[in-house]
Amino acid sequence: MVDLQSQYAKIQNTVDARISEVLKSATFINGPEVHNFQKELENYLGVKHVIPCANGTDALQIAMMGLGLQPGDEVITADFTFAATVEVIALLHLTPVLVDVDPIDFNISIDAIKKAITPKTKAIVPVHLFGKTANMEAIMEIAAEHNLFVIEDNAQAIGANYTYKDGSKKKAGTIGHAASTSFFPSKNLGCYGDGGAIFTNDDDLAHKIRGIVNHGMYVRYHHDVVGVNSRLDSIQAAVLSTKLTHLDLYNKARQEAAKKYNAAFANEKNIITPVICDNCDCHVFHQYTLKVLNVDRDQLAAFLNENGIPCGVYYPIPLHSQKAYADERYNESDFTVTNQLVKEVISLPMHTELDDEQIAFITSKVIEFINR
Ligand SMILES: *Cc1c(COP(=O)(O)O)cnc(C)c1O
Repeated sequence: MVDLQSQYAKIQNTVDARISEVLKSATFINGPEVHNFQKELENYLGVKHVIPCANGTDALQIAMMGLGLQPGDEVITADFTFAATVEVIALLHLTPVLVDVDPIDFNISIDAIKKAITPKTKAIVPVHLFGKTANMEAIMEIAAEHNLFVIEDNAQAIGANYTYKDGSKKKAGTIGHAASTSFFPSKNLGCYGDGGAIFTNDDDLAHKIRGIVNHGMYVRYHHDVVGVNSRLDSIQAAVLSTKLTHLDLYNKARQEAAKKYNAAFANEKNIITPVICDNCDCHVFHQYTLKVLNVDRDQLAAFLNENGIPCGVYYPIPLHSQKAYADERYNESDFTVTNQLVKEVISLPMHTELDDEQIAFITSKVIEFINR
């Protein structure tokens, strides 16, 4: 699905030299590389505060802790996403409220959010799924009206631009009250291990979160709040600092590959391709995900695998149907889109190193199966 080896080969000299510097300095934790990367990412995103942490799941949890969400508070999020999003809500004894998604871009449905709001609702967690920004303008309007926090799960869309109705743009992850991201190796900005970060424009929240990630300490050995231990290490920061300088090119390469896939499938009525708007970088294609109709999706996946083509089903089971998150509050009739998507979606290889020959082979095999 990804080709991290070819990507590494192109930046090997720089990355190796920078890792070697960290080894020589022996500042593995809280070294200057971490601080530098934090500043570089703040500049890139146009956000006041980036707080690095250990992974994207921690980042979500820490953002929710920082906002002071309390047990019993309801948090609305998408039924169709990676489990980490709902997991941390449940871990903090908040009440997850899963809602349906949009059938075109797979992101949280605005109507479903509106329907799910109660007096106990305290936050909305939109996920910019597969790299496509959610409808943030509508979400922020709802949040303002009902006095809710918005935490963007930006694990899949770093570098994407959200475009407002008036044409102005903001980077995904800089619009809500806080955002989380993941630097897992296969993410659009991935390190060579685990890593994550929280973003916010709120000075007080940033201060609070800097303590939470460090055992609740603001002054050494004074623990003012219950915190966690969640750090990005210097070696990962060195890798990320190098890769950040290539992020726009990496995302461009993904968008170009997506365009070529879409062109190859243009005449296939049983293949629904992702929407790509012209001159729009609202989608950075963390995944390239098709909907396939009138065909057994799992057999297509098996056929591709037999032909040496990796593919993935993200996600095969709606979160509301998972044992850990099932709840009698939910009605199947409220999840018609997710229930359908889990049967139709299939993601093709998507990374920065895809070439025309690979795309031609992959698309020819998909088309061969769909039409047989
Ligand atoms: C990857 C991912 C996470 C979790 O990130 P980790 O670094 O693996 O903890 C959370 N949410 C979404 C949507 C993700 O894709």
